[in-house]
Amino acid sequence: MSVTKNDTAVLKNFINGKWVNSNSEQTLDVPNPATNELLTRVPVSTKEDVDLAVAAAKEAFKTWKNVPVPKRARVLFKFHHLLTENHEELARLIVLENGKAYKEAYGEVQRGIECVEFAAGAPTLMMGETLSGIAEEIDSEMFRFPLGVVGGITPFNFPMMVPLWMFPMAIACGNTFILKPSERTPILANRLAELFLDSGAPAGVLNVVHGAHDVVNGLLDHKDIAAVSFVGSQPVAKYVYERAAAEGKRVQALSGAKNHHIVMPDADLDKAVQNVMSSTFGSAGQRCMACSAVVVVGDNAPFIAALKKSADELIIGNGMDDEVLLTPVIRKEHRDKALGFIQKRLEDGADLIRDGRKEMDELPEGNFLATIFDHVTPDMTIAKEEIFAPVLSLLRAKDLDEGLEYIRKSRFGNGATIYTNSAKAVRQFREEADAGMLGINVGVPATMAFFPFSGWKDSFYGDLHVNGKDGLNFYTRKKMITSRF
Ligand code: NAD
Repeated sequence: MSVTKNDTAVLKNFINGKWVNSNSEQTLDVPNPATNELLTRVPVSTKEDVDLAVAAAKEAFKTWKNVPVPKRARVLFKFHHLLTENHEELARLIVLENGKAYKEAYGEVQRGIECVEFAAGAPTLMMGETLSGIAEEIDSEMFRFPLGVVGGITPFNFPMMVPLWMFPMAIACGNTFILKPSERTPILANRLAELFLDSGAPAGVLNVVHGAHDVVNGLLDHKDIAAVSFVGSQPVAKYVYERAAAEGKRVQALSGAKNHHIVMPDADLDKAVQNVMSSTFGSAGQRCMACSAVVVVGDNAPFIAALKKSADELIIGNGMDDEVLLTPVIRKEHRDKALGFIQKRLEDGADLIRDGRKEMDELPEGNFLATIFDHVTPDMTIAKEEIFAPVLSLLRAKDLDEGLEYIRKSRFGNGATIYTNSAKAVRQFREEADAGMLGINVGVPATMAFFPFSGWKDSFYGDLHVNGKDGLNFYTRKKMITSRF
């Protein structure tokens, strides 16, 4: 399968409406995670490439900011149309470079399209506020203005949805944008740029610069970049937040996670197992909202037995095959890192419910692994760190208070879920769970485009989250006019 029009040997950057070679000779391989066959190569672009993109975006901003808001929105309507028309092809590209199951990739494309839908409401969203008579014969008005050139740095796990959390809203608000996609999933970004160009976006409004650290640092330090949106792992999120903020930029940095699911004794067993399984093993555990720790309240032996049975029946394989739930993790190194956590736990005398090492022998060509440990305690490394792989820890708690205490102790606070039919437990969970996105009998409580994606604690650095009114506020600044007539 051909990946994109411009994939012959090395992907190109997209700058000022044109496909251009990077200044760098250095490239990284982009393999298919299910087979490790080479798909293409991505250039490790330089700061000079970033400078070219920033210059183009800065120039484009001069006119784009003055394009009437409804006309800007019309570009997004066209983009929406093209994304919808190419929904299946986009999903296949995600499976190819990321490895997740087609059904999940299809869902990801849908989540991305919804971000475009939301951003196309810019004429309403961007409305300001007025008050006549703040003093005698004096009125006040508030208008929203774009910031300028915005940089977006994205992770490998949602190659479509995460870029679409960022650039449609930023651009609808009148900004111009430079996207630095993950070097591990760079293919889809070029297809998105292609479709955006076909939607009538003028040259320079959206630019894509591929690469790794140098491109990121180039964006963080560039004096002509007004704001940076970042999504990725915790250490990098903190680094990006601090470095860009030190340069006086507006920053939103979405970070890592350790999401706890509390299973109460009264939970519907089948539904709890089904939700935990798909949250833990779907997308190979590589979702920032994936369940990685289950807190079993009370001695719920039937739940443990049903979970074990379901885990033993996991269908493993290539994401393009129907019925597959467990797909590969992104790289062999990633699988080896997860294996390191597993081996450490085994050395400490772990209670293993499912041993993922068998997939490594049975399917050596892909990066497969699925493991469950029981009787993990909150102080163990495996319970505290984000592994970002299908490795699940079961913790035991005597009651809901203790379960909530585990969540409070975690330095992450992206999501948490409770499985119960008790209104009292739900209310206590809602009030006391120390995380920004909660699920009540929902395995992946990710928010829709019109609400903020609102991680807490070390899962987020900044003030305004992506999406919803937060996204709008992040990509606009307010101007107040006080008038005496
Ligand atoms: P990553 O941090 O390795 O990479 C993210 C981006 O940062 C990439 O574009 C990469 O090129 C760049 N980068 C990586 N290391 C860098 C460095 N040292 N200096 C400068 N730039 C660097 O993350 P990933 O592995 O691609 O993605 C998975 C992570 O993203 C997980 O931790 C996951 O929880 C997180 N994530 C969080 C959310 C959220 O909403 N909170 C959503 C998706 C993913």
